[in-house]
Amino acid sequence: MLNSTKFIFVTGGVSSSLGKGIIAASLAKLLQSQGYKVTIQKLDPYINIDPGTLNPYEHGECYVTNDGAETDLDLGHYERFLNVPTSQANNITTGRIYQSVINKERKGEYLGRTVQVIPHITDEIKKSIKYLAENNQYDIIITEIGGTVGDIESLPYIEALRQMKWEMGEKNVVAIHLTLIPYLSAAKELKTKPTQHSVKTLMESGVQADVLVCRTEHEINDSIRDKLARFCNVDTDSVIQSVDVKTIYDVPNCMSSEGLDKVVLKKLGLKFTKPDLSSWNEFLDKYKNPKNTVKIALIGKYVELQDSYKSILESFIHSGAVNEVKVEVTAIHSEHINKENIAEKLENFNGVLVAPGFGERGIEGKIEAIKYVRLKKIPFFGICLGMQMAVIEFCRNVLNMDGANSTEMDKKTTYPVIDLMDDQKNIVNKGGTMRLGSWNCKLNDDSLVHKIYNTNTIDERHRHRYEFNSEYIKEIEDNGLIATGINIDTELVEIVELKNHPWFIGVQFHPEYKSTVLNPHPLFVSFISAALKNYNNQ
Ligand code: GLN
Repeated sequence: MLNSTKFIFVTGGVSSSLGKGIIAASLAKLLQSQGYKVTIQKLDPYINIDPGTLNPYEHGECYVTNDGAETDLDLGHYERFLNVPTSQANNITTGRIYQSVINKERKGEYLGRTVQVIPHITDEIKKSIKYLAENNQYDIIITEIGGTVGDIESLPYIEALRQMKWEMGEKNVVAIHLTLIPYLSAAKELKTKPTQHSVKTLMESGVQADVLVCRTEHEINDSIRDKLARFCNVDTDSVIQSVDVKTIYDVPNCMSSEGLDKVVLKKLGLKFTKPDLSSWNEFLDKYKNPKNTVKIALIGKYVELQDSYKSILESFIHSGAVNEVKVEVTAIHSEHINKENIAEKLENFNGVLVAPGFGERGIEGKIEAIKYVRLKKIPFFGICLGMQMAVIEFCRNVLNMDGANSTEMDKKTTYPVIDLMDDQKNIVNKGGTMRLGSWNCKLNDDSLVHKIYNTNTIDERHRHRYEFNSEYIKEIEDNGLIATGINIDTELVEIVELKNHPWFIGVQFHPEYKSTVLNPHPLFVSFISAALKNYNNQ
């Protein structure tokens, strides 16, 4: 453990979507593999308090931490790479910063002074960054500043970085700038000018980048490195290239061979030792050399966007590697599924996952799909809304409860088999008011989930408002859909599984948030293994 925490900032320039989160996570992985205690934080410059109220079209998946924070999907990458949980403190938004400053102002804590962006907002930002350093929990904190330099909304964050660099000195704060080196195919040339401009824009705010990480489609040669170093005021060994790779999980190795960790540690005055990536590389080896392919249908309603189900897709990668199979996921829009086309849509899949979601749109297609896999004995995995739909399908088609539904979709249904609990009924605000974060659950001794988890109690993360209505539990169980996981504190049903089916499990929680490279989620691992059996039987 170091005496004092060191800070690394990652900013982005030229274009958005360059992968700051993956670079931050990869660097963190390399530092962690040398024995440093590292955490990563994301500062988001938007005004929302958190992304919980943003729809997936706006911002991709909303990731949930153990402490129930609804956060940016980059936190998912941090956890998947580092295998260490994050918390609310790892994701700060402008909305949250302003809310806290305004609350203090209302309490009179500023003693009559004018409250301003500098110093009050910037002080609050610095406080949120340094908060993670309290109690010497971490040797190094990597802070990713969202957006692109030059954006009006990220200015206070860049200013906070400038102040921290000035106050704490260059051995304690390092600024990494991630930029793009575009390739002009007509000229057959890589161009450094946008990077020069972006580094200059950063300098206008008083921040000199210490290290450049250059996203590029082609290798950058020594003369480009020299040019970038000269124009941007950095050492040549601080110009790091990040060439496009097939999988994000290759990036730690790429950054290691480019020496990103070495140069950052040198600047911070810390010791470099060769990172031990052996278990990481074991995963990569299995992932890249699958023995078979299983086909999984992912049924949801945001299927055109690859970020909407990010954690589920990554969980398939982790669990595929364990099973040494390639998991080929096909996203199917539930609104395009109906009675007539269901067989044609699903007959070629080895397993079907019905995704989480909100609102009425597309639910009938999900129910149709669940009926098909229930009867055809195709492995089925329902997550959150997917589990609720499995209960509804069972009630409608096995128990003949015509029109059974969730009160989310039909307030007046005769059979509210999924319903709001009393503590949710009077809630009016949408933000941060669902059942969120980690809850403990007890597993039935003789259940499939007990076998899979190989333990009596589990804790999993939640993000939903509606629940299995326990009034119907007896009738449902008597007919073969068993509640095999019960919340220890509230007795709510958290898991259902179907008797006489090879693999039919619905979970009210989100297992995908807890799957990491080094700790693939057991439910995903088992689901893929069942899909593989289904493939072998076909
Ligand atoms: N819409 C459902 C609820 O609020 C399910 C939410 C989800 O799938 N995350 O209960």
